[in-house]
Amino acid sequence: QRAEWRKLRDQPTITMDGVHVELAANIGTPNDITGVLENGGEGVGLYRTEFLYMGRDKLPSEDIQYNAYKTVLEKMEGKPVVVRTLDIGGDKELPYLSLPKEMNPFLGFRAIRLCLDRKDIFRTQLRALLRASIYGNLRIMFPMIATLGEFREAKAILLEEKDKLITEGVTVSDSIQLGIMVEIPSTAVMADQFAKEVDFFSIGTNDLIQYTMAADRMNENVSYLYQPYNPAILRLIKMVIDAAHREGRWVGMCGEMAGDETAIPLLIGLGLDEFSMSATSILPARSQITKLSRAKMQQVAAQALELQTAEEVVELVQGGLIYLW
Ligand code: PEP
Ligand code: MG
Repeated sequence: QRAEWRKLRDQPTITMDGVHVELAANIGTPNDITGVLENGGEGVGLYRTEFLYMGRDKLPSEDIQYNAYKTVLEKMEGKPVVVRTLDIGGDKELPYLSLPKEMNPFLGFRAIRLCLDRKDIFRTQLRALLRASIYGNLRIMFPMIATLGEFREAKAILLEEKDKLITEGVTVSDSIQLGIMVEIPSTAVMADQFAKEVDFFSIGTNDLIQYTMAADRMNENVSYLYQPYNPAILRLIKMVIDAAHREGRWVGMCGEMAGDETAIPLLIGLGLDEFSMSATSILPARSQITKLSRAKMQQVAAQALELQTAEEVVELVQGGLIYLW
């Protein structure tokens, strides 16, 4: 098996019936790139920039950030790199920001909500990203977008910083794609409207599942409700992918579900374009996908969407695969 995976390392990911999908990696620091390349990653689908802000006693300067982003872009040699802007709050704290204690941190002041309030923090990160953009194929993604208003405001700030840099004589790439994470149900439901304004979506199932099922992803007592295969989740994913494709946008997934062996056949069937996962999952996923037919998985996915429970979906996929592969 390992020999087969090694052979797949430098190959594209193509289904039996010729559909190409992209397998990218989730990273937390520039050091992670070595593992991405060793495991045949075709890009970075999620760079969690929080780690730049954690483990220090003050905000990282624009130059510290610029160097990190530049390093990642250079090491990826023109392959796409999706950088997510700061997603702090919720379970991730920054001692030096002294944020208020909240009753429901996962429903509170985090990610883009915080960035749109603390615009100084947000603008510094955007400037660092824009300056680094000429060193590779940068894509910028905003986390925890719940409304079109938030996206428009964040985009306007990005464009302001870009204009300022250009006025200062700094070169900025003019082909930076701008996307959002779809991890809040309101955004999944409104995906048709968002698709008119974004370049891409990346579905964050870790949060999308917790918010759709109203089940804290950290709380063991309700973990039975944390159901990736619940038809409700699959229907939301389908809505997002269909809405994006109608507008000619691509859709990725960067939650844990993207690397899950049982989910992958369904996601292929639903038409997902990019899968972003931990680097070590990439070759097993590539091996699995090259043995699947998109046309057949479309039928499996269509059946799954009409089932009633997560257990039935798992049974359908795991039972069906024996003869479908
Ligand atoms: C997600 O919510 O699915 C995601 C990828 O983001 P994080 O796990 O960092 O919240
Ligand atoms: Mg998330």
